Amino acid sequence: MVKIKQVSNPLARFSVEPGVHHHHREAQQFVGGKVPLGLKRKGLRVLVTGGAGFVGSHLVDRLLARGDSVIVVDNLFTGRKENVLHHAGNPRFEMIRHDVVEPILLEVDHIYHLACPASPVHYKHNPVKTIKTNVVGTLNMLGLAKRVGARFLLTSTSEVYGDPLQHPQVETYWGNVNPIGVRSCYDEGKRTAETLTMDYHRSANLEVRIARIFNTYGPRMCIDDGRVVSNFVAQALRKEPLTVYGDGKQTRSFQYVSDLVEGLMKLMEGEHVGPFNLGNPGEFTMLELAKVVQDTIDPNAKIEFRPNTADDPHKRKPDISRAKELLGWEPKIPLHKGLPLMVQDFRDRIFGDRKPDAAAGDN
Ligand code: NAD
Ligand code: UDP
Repeated sequence: MVKIKQVSNPLARFSVEPGVHHHHREAQQFVGGKVPLGLKRKGLRVLVTGGAGFVGSHLVDRLLARGDSVIVVDNLFTGRKENVLHHAGNPRFEMIRHDVVEPILLEVDHIYHLACPASPVHYKHNPVKTIKTNVVGTLNMLGLAKRVGARFLLTSTSEVYGDPLQHPQVETYWGNVNPIGVRSCYDEGKRTAETLTMDYHRSANLEVRIARIFNTYGPRMCIDDGRVVSNFVAQALRKEPLTVYGDGKQTRSFQYVSDLVEGLMKLMEGEHVGPFNLGNPGEFTMLELAKVVQDTIDPNAKIEFRPNTADDPHKRKPDISRAKELLGWEPKIPLHKGLPLMVQDFRDRIFGDRKPDAAAGDN
């Protein structure tokens, strides 16, 4: 049980332990009758940076559904307005087109910091900008959290483990990252973002949370972002060959987006800083993934081998014991159940009103 102690200013934050800010829902609504009428709030005020992107937009859906007020800050580099358009009339929703590399001041209780291109094609497109987003952008959002006393959650990545020498990866593993490679703008950028997050926690007493997200898929992924699941699904629907890079024996572990969103919210609401691996331990080679896509969309889809990209991690699988034990979280949706949910969305977006030609099948 968390004890809430009121500090002298009734409008000020509530603390659990000296120096530690706490903003539980009950605390927010317990305003001691001293807040001027009309200023009482229900729910939390939540900032989601990168909220017009794939993961962010699903998180926004969940936060609004439970009654929070949500501000999305997004520069729409890889995000799309369409992802959040369905909230346009909601008075608890606001979207600001803004680049996190520039400072911004907003009054919020929680910050989910997602802003950063996530697919290798996007983050390698302008690597210096990727570093700036991860370092300057994260600094700006941590500065904001400190100034307004908000709790801050960083969406880090399994890429901090690089091409891992430990399998599966546990949070205590420090990783094997090439600091000068083409992926390092992202990997080292996220590692620095983790460092900044922990330094703000230690030196400024900021309440922080760190999630290390493993490969996630689902509706609203960018269709042409080059990630393996979006590529294979779009290719199978368009009757193009599935492009397997290298020998296809490298592995990834694929998590459905609703499982991730659940994990992120549990992490934010819980008491533990982390880092926590959030991923589905079901591990697949790229050839096995291609087979699942064939079974789901088109058993006749061809496979075409292509040269692999530099520094591609050979294997990846999360050890999620820590999240299971401390957050009471584990993913529920296996690949063969999650994939069809994404396929319908891709079908609608690729073909629009137009029905895919009969040959594309409708299974
Ligand atoms: P995404 O590209 O769909 O979303 C990222 C969002 O951030 C986009 O809406 C983009 O426009 C926005 N953005 C990028 N740079 C910005 C900037 N400088 N200022 C403001 N907005 C900016 O990617 P996603 O898959 O939704 O990933 C969300 C977060 O989760 C990212 O931080 C990513 O690193 C992390 N993550 C995702 C995965 C995954 O498999 N999806 C895996 C590991 C980590
Ligand atoms: N990959 C593939 N075909 C594609 C795209 C990617 O075989 O069309 C492979 C890629 O080489 C990597 C894995 O799929 O081994 C995952 O790549 P992705 O870009 O989705 O994410 P990553 O985990 O590398 O960030």
